[in-house]
Amino acid sequence: MNIDLSNRTAVVTGASSGIGKATAVCLAEAGADVFTGDIQLREETTAQFKELGIREQVCDVTSLPQLQSLIDGAAGATGRLDILVNNAGIIMVKQVTEVSEEDWDNCIDTNVKSAFFGSKFAIPHMQKSGGGCIVNTASNAGILPRAHDPVYSISKLSVVGLTRSLALCHSKDRIRVNCVCPGPVGDTEIMEEGLREFEDRDAAVRKFIYASPLARAHDRMISPEEIAMSILYLASDAAKMITGTSLTIDGGKSLGVPPETD
Ligand code: NAP
Repeated sequence: MNIDLSNRTAVVTGASSGIGKATAVCLAEAGADVFTGDIQLREETTAQFKELGIREQVCDVTSLPQLQSLIDGAAGATGRLDILVNNAGIIMVKQVTEVSEEDWDNCIDTNVKSAFFGSKFAIPHMQKSGGGCIVNTASNAGILPRAHDPVYSISKLSVVGLTRSLALCHSKDRIRVNCVCPGPVGDTEIMEEGLREFEDRDAAVRKFIYASPLARAHDRMISPEEIAMSILYLASDAAKMITGTSLTIDGGKSLGVPPETD
């Protein structure tokens, strides 16, 4: 399957590292005009993006004016908007009794509010373009909540719900809304942040790999590029009749069957 996104305009949030960066590269290599935003830009990403003609700007997705400026700017520069990837996200590993109001707002605003308002800002442009697609980065925690990160799990369950609701509301406009549910993904800042919490990093990596049957079979975590390929597919015409779906890319982690203890 050869995916051609020539003459399509795409916006990706949280794109200076990990899954967002791999997605921006993947969409640009397929021919799309890609505009990215992140709370902080990283030199090595900027250099790679420059080579591929990917534009980037500082954008804190919890600031609605900044988010709208990223989306309106992309549509204004190219005259259209076809693809929005609501990808920016943060982790929150705290028990319910430890969570402050600020923690809750931070995680829910970054992971959920931004996806809702990003969609709100993108939809009028997509309606003008005759359709479009939104892909949200949820998590396997959005399929099967976890005991160690209730607020993060709630945020990603909400992203799955938001995806289904907006898909229903905007099919009439030929706007498709889907999400990916990844994990565990290596080479990401979120994973690195998680691993820093453990004294024995290697043992922690083994634990993450062990929790996902396919990651275990391949003896490695999932790569950001493997998530980006699924986002590319959902954003392309190959997925023209797919909306409201949650594509789980977790090597079977959320199947609900505990891994064998061999
Ligand atoms: P990542 O490398 O940390 O990428 C996330 C990017 O979003 C970072 O560049 C981060 O910047 C940025 N960001 C954070 N808050 C932001 C804000 N308010 N505005 C704009 N950008 C912001 O981790 P990733 O794994 O690629 O994460 C991408 C998405 O995948 C997230 O939604 C995450 O929840 C989801 N996910 C990841 C995994 C995994 O195993 N890695 C699994 C399931 C789901 P800073 O680094 O400066 O904070």
